[in-house]
Amino acid sequence: MPELLPRAVNVNRAEGILSAVWPDGGVTTVALMKLRQICPCATCAEARGENPHPGLLEAPPSEAAPPAKPRSRGLPLLGDVRKFQISELRHVGRYALGVTWADSHQSIYTWASLFEMRAPASSAS
Ligand SMILES: [Zn+2]
Repeated sequence: MPELLPRAVNVNRAEGILSAVWPDGGVTTVALMKLRQICPCATCAEARGENPHPGLLEAPPSEAAPPAKPRSRGLPLLGDVRKFQISELRHVGRYALGVTWADSHQSIYTWASLFEMRAPASSAS
């Protein structure tokens, strides 16, 4: 499997957006707020009410479950703003991006997971 590394990673702090440019020309653009919300660490998964160890206890989707669960999360409180600001980016080995947030929480996003979020190279419009 070829290594999956972006050509460039940029954080636009003013707009609160992280972007990664991939060798195939696709670009992942994700709001920092969303990035923090999808933090894959066990602490955040648990806070989201998810099974922190998917695969171990994964239950098949229940037919009794409501079809579309509306997200009840409101806007972040003012005091939470630092949760959505990046203080540092770093490489984690060669497979992931490490993010340290302004509230000192640390997240790790594999390049593969960021790659999956990309929009394909846009043809000239
Ligand atoms: Zn987390």
